[in-house]
Amino acid sequence: MTKAATTDLLAALGRSASEATTPGQAGTTGTPASPVSAAALAPASAIGAFNVITLESAEAIAAGAESAGRPVIMQISENCVRYHGALAPIAGATLAIAAAASVPIAVHLDHATDLSLVDEALELGFDSVMYDGAHLPYAENCATTAEVVRRAHRRGIGVEAELGEIGGKDGAHAPGVRTDPAEAVDFAAATGVDALAVAVGSSHAMLERTSRLDLDLITRLAAAVPVPLVLHGSSGVPDAELERAIGAGMAKINVSTHLGSVFTGAVRETLAVDPRLVDPRKYLAPGREAFAAEVTRLLALFTEARAHRPLAKPAREA
Ligand SMILES: [Zn+2]
Repeated sequence: MTKAATTDLLAALGRSASEATTPGQAGTTGTPASPVSAAALAPASAIGAFNVITLESAEAIAAGAESAGRPVIMQISENCVRYHGALAPIAGATLAIAAAASVPIAVHLDHATDLSLVDEALELGFDSVMYDGAHLPYAENCATTAEVVRRAHRRGIGVEAELGEIGGKDGAHAPGVRTDPAEAVDFAAATGVDALAVAVGSSHAMLERTSRLDLDLITRLAAAVPVPLVLHGSSGVPDAELERAIGAGMAKINVSTHLGSVFTGAVRETLAVDPRLVDPRKYLAPGREAFAAEVTRLLALFTEARAHRPLAKPAREA
């Protein structure tokens, strides 16, 4: 019912999205996405994008977004598809949960390197896809991303791409990699992408929230690049730093590992209390509840980031 187009959610942040997609027309239901209220998304707020791994995580993201009264993006990564052995079953459940939610929810394919997986997601009715060609030489990343954009835009579906490899996926890349603003501007123009993941100091799969981001670079990228910027590897970034990053111009905040850790922590605690517990529902339910509560908390944090904007640029008085 309230399934939303990713580009609409990002456009509601006050930043431009590609004109190639028609607002309110994307999505499987064929009905226009619900308008995202201006109050829910102030100019310096960002949209939360959380990874679905199991059915419980999709339920938790929807429940958490409903409690927060905020739109959200549920994303399924290529790694998650590899885990399940197929995209269709987990995608079907996720799309159904998104469609039944009382807040706008977009369903997004995260970190796809396989073009046939992108095609399958387009076929299944995803609202947006991320093609990750960051490991490729620049020209090849550009050409392949442009091809994905052509295929997706034909169906009114938005595309996120990545420039400047974000560390952590294969352990081979230090978080010292940075996206060059001039190259990002060229890349956005050459490919027609709707959102761009940039390397600004975060790294994937971090278990501790200790990352420091290059806030000056985020400010320069946000000023130069005409499409919304996406922060990957946000699990390793502390709350205050996330707020500063949003204040500096980050529009989509991807969180996966941190929520997995919250979920597993609650499951582990429940199992420790009763070693005789065997019904999976009895320990998955507390995991799902803890996951949902953290989604609610993060969505509020991402929306209230504006109040912390002065931290990115120290106030003059004093
Ligand atoms: Zn990522």
